[in-house]
Amino acid sequence: MPTGLVTASYIGAAVLFILALGGLSHQETARRGNLYGMLGMALALLATLIGVVSDNFAILFGALVVGGALGLMLAKRVQMTQMPELVAILHSLVGLAAVLVGFANFTDPAVQLAGAEKTIHDVETYLGILIGAVTFSGSVIAFGKLSGRIGGKPLVLPGRHWLNLALLLLAIWFGAWFLDAAEGGAGLAPLLLMTAVALLFGIHMVMAIGGADMPVVISMLNSYSGWAASATGFMLGNDLLIVTGALVGSSGAILSYIMCRAMNRRFLSVIAGGFGTSGASAAGAAGEQGEVQPLDPADAAVMLKDAKNVVIVPGYGMAVAQAQHAVYELTKELQNAGVSVRFAIHPVAGRMPGHMNVLLAEANVPYDIVLEMDEINDDFPEVDVSIVIGANDIVNPSAQEVPDSPIAGMPVLEVWKGRATFVLKRSMATGYAGVENPLFFRENTFMLFGDAREMLQALIKAL
Ligand code: NDP
Repeated sequence: MPTGLVTASYIGAAVLFILALGGLSHQETARRGNLYGMLGMALALLATLIGVVSDNFAILFGALVVGGALGLMLAKRVQMTQMPELVAILHSLVGLAAVLVGFANFTDPAVQLAGAEKTIHDVETYLGILIGAVTFSGSVIAFGKLSGRIGGKPLVLPGRHWLNLALLLLAIWFGAWFLDAAEGGAGLAPLLLMTAVALLFGIHMVMAIGGADMPVVISMLNSYSGWAASATGFMLGNDLLIVTGALVGSSGAILSYIMCRAMNRRFLSVIAGGFGTSGASAAGAAGEQGEVQPLDPADAAVMLKDAKNVVIVPGYGMAVAQAQHAVYELTKELQNAGVSVRFAIHPVAGRMPGHMNVLLAEANVPYDIVLEMDEINDDFPEVDVSIVIGANDIVNPSAQEVPDSPIAGMPVLEVWKGRATFVLKRSMATGYAGVENPLFFRENTFMLFGDAREMLQALIKAL
């Protein structure tokens, strides 16, 4: 395949990736966006296979079959609730690939460069491995935290900022050593030492971040994985990898910014970690807050029949209970009875950006009744009943009322301002941030204890 054709295919694939990102920004066009992405990736793979690779086809196809089969199996088996963990572990693979390709390229005797070109190439190798190693270990810890294998509490080591600074200085120092040594054809030792430092930094960075701030970490690691791929692209001289990595890197950075704004956090303070420390204020004084008011579905149905304006607030528990179809059933039932029903989506509801939108779209809930937090938060004083389905942190008034709460300052859906709130959850357990929720003790809050799907089915029956 002539080089020109490979370049043309790469440009075509890059355009398809940009169209994919554009498509993914709206629910209506998300499917089309995914299709563009798949076409782009198929084109990129084909062009690389036919036009770039010239040797070792057996190993390549073997790896493709094994990797493809594993990916297919995982994607088929994964539950919607495990999606965020899957995304985290996939980021870790991008990081690992960048590290391995970096070492392979560095030790490859076929790569013969000299002068400024060699120095630039060495810097690319160093950066690719550095970002890749941070992404790899950070994503593995994020996977552990999201899957519950590692606790959500932040690890707050004494002098942790100094530790981070020391690791950064070490990485710079090893970098200078590496560039010096690489001149003479050596440099493996500083490269290995830097990799160890970068792995430690990734672990420490994500361990220090509290549960409520995890959304920012996920989008940040997503961004890092893109930059790692981009650096690898520079190292290998592959234009498509540079462009694709930059697209992932910058869209991840924009997502991190959006997540920070949604949580009212500064990016640097999230990365510095330590939020979400479960101190006294995190546990809260549940006992002092009064009694909760349990409600059975029959009584709840009576109140719903009298309502004119209902808002549904879905959270992580809706994903766990797979209750999205039952939610839409209830919505149609209420709409048929002349009740206005809208959905309020918090930007960090669930365990990954857009988690709730994906579930509601799967259940065919029309997009025009699904509103973002900013679009609906001022309407709660006019709402008759808010139905909170498996959500907790995103409707926690202590974010506004308790200044030293781990979620202090995070904008929340102000359901308590409405006439009545129904909370569907199984127990009085806290949410991901581990913070007690005073909403459950408010006099206009009623608890419908049980699995969200079963409770919704009972409600539909009672209606
Ligand atoms: P929360 O984790 O705060 O609360 C979920 C609630 O759902 C729990 O209190 C649980 O209570 C309930 N629940 C679980 N299973 C069921 C079930 N089968 N039926 C009914 N209820 C159930 O979720 P939110 O969506 O309110 O908030 C998201 C949290 O996750 C935030 O802290 C956010 O920062 C964090 N996060 C978000 C990410 C994102 O990108 N969106 C990524 C990582 C973290 P019980 O056990 O009593 O049933």
